Amino acid sequence: MNNRLYGNLIFELSHEGRQGYSLPRNKFSQYQVPENLRRQHEAKLPECDELTVVRHYTNLSQNNFGVDNGFYPLGSCTMKYNPKINEEMASLPAFQHLHPLQPDHTVEGARAAISMLERMLCALTGLAHFTFKPYAGAHGELTGLMVIDNYHRSRGDLQRRKVVVPDSAHGTNPASAAVCGLEILEVKSTADGLVDLDDLQRLVATEGSNIAAMMMTNPNTLGLFEQQIPEIAKLIHDCGGLMYYDGANLNPMLGACRPGDMGFDVMHINLHKTFSTPHGGGGPGSGPVGVREGLQQFFPIVSPYHGNFAVMLRALAYILTLGRDHVKEVGPLATLNANYIKESLKDVYELPIEGLCCHEFVFDGLRDKSTGVTTMDVAKRLLDYGYHAPTIYFPLLFHESLMIEPTENESLETLDGFIAVMRRIAEEAKSNPELVKSAPHDTPIGRVDDVLAAKHPVVTYQQLIHDAD
Ligand SMILES: *Cc1c(COP(=O)(O)O)cnc(C)c1O
Repeated sequence: MNNRLYGNLIFELSHEGRQGYSLPRNKFSQYQVPENLRRQHEAKLPECDELTVVRHYTNLSQNNFGVDNGFYPLGSCTMKYNPKINEEMASLPAFQHLHPLQPDHTVEGARAAISMLERMLCALTGLAHFTFKPYAGAHGELTGLMVIDNYHRSRGDLQRRKVVVPDSAHGTNPASAAVCGLEILEVKSTADGLVDLDDLQRLVATEGSNIAAMMMTNPNTLGLFEQQIPEIAKLIHDCGGLMYYDGANLNPMLGACRPGDMGFDVMHINLHKTFSTPHGGGGPGSGPVGVREGLQQFFPIVSPYHGNFAVMLRALAYILTLGRDHVKEVGPLATLNANYIKESLKDVYELPIEGLCCHEFVFDGLRDKSTGVTTMDVAKRLLDYGYHAPTIYFPLLFHESLMIEPTENESLETLDGFIAVMRRIAEEAKSNPELVKSAPHDTPIGRVDDVLAAKHPVVTYQQLIHDAD
């Protein structure tokens, strides 16, 4: 599938003296870079002809997988439905050419768009105010916890330094609490995958006066609707803590129920997930934080200017396109799709928690464990069939987690195609386990050492490293 240039670095395609361009002669020789800023040696840059450069980077770009290439069933951090009209709205020149330092009276339209979005988010969540400064979900969590921290401090309640986090929570929850200087109290899940109320009661009894907040995701990371929120909120409020809602994946709730009505005081929303901005590799994101009336004076300043405006515009376009009535259909359709896949595969993949799920669900690997084929192997084999892998080995509640989330606009044919491939892989695991264990076979790169790649990433061409030595 790749041409012969594939696999080379641009430096390896270099030939001394080869050029792809010619710059006009410098007509401004009176303007000189000051001596002390000038390079002492020639930069070691690759020397290539134009077509080689164009093809090299075009081929590289085509090794990417995105929502526009194929089905992307990644759970939790899903790339949800990203309508193309949002891109058009975000690239309108009047928006695109704004400068953050323009005088206020020249950006009234942009400010109106932000406050329109704020009103819509308030209506959808039941909270009273939003700040749009946070650049991502984790940034929003930190901001929200700072609001909570500021609130307790303002009351002289300085000993409240602990945050209750369910063991099923997204990893950013305990991480944000730690960054905020707070300690984590983990609350267990029941066998049904919901917050264990007995365990929470025990925590509140011993730690009540130290609890700053409880963070919850609902539907939780297993895709299950937490049924005891009123009881949980009462326990936490009675001991003086606040309720934090992780609304990274708010889609199943839209128009159905509101965190503010359930007793949550502070929340964040991932506009780049729930409200449709293509994201990946760390950006772009927007994690607005909402609070109930009376907490808005505790918003900290966590970034300059207004945050990631283009992501807000996409969210606004998404909500306006759907309108008040149709926004309610997002959740049920995503939920239908998730349950359809779950029920169609649960005879071959192990479903640790039976019953209806919301927008996502978790398998615990293949049912037949005798083949030795793991969740990692299944995920790698999916790549050979042209599918993005689901989220794997998360949540940590199971050994072989495989977390699947289809979004609301996937067609029946797409879902059936994915189901057929998942069944085929389950069969291969029996008939030819080696084939699955050694997958992927058709991607440019096979299996990388994830740990080494994360801990010692080599992102510079070796020659440059040597030269620098
Ligand atoms: C993605 C996600 C986050 C973190 O959001 P980022 O924008 O990646 O920082 C937090 N909680 C949940 C449940 C998520 O899915």
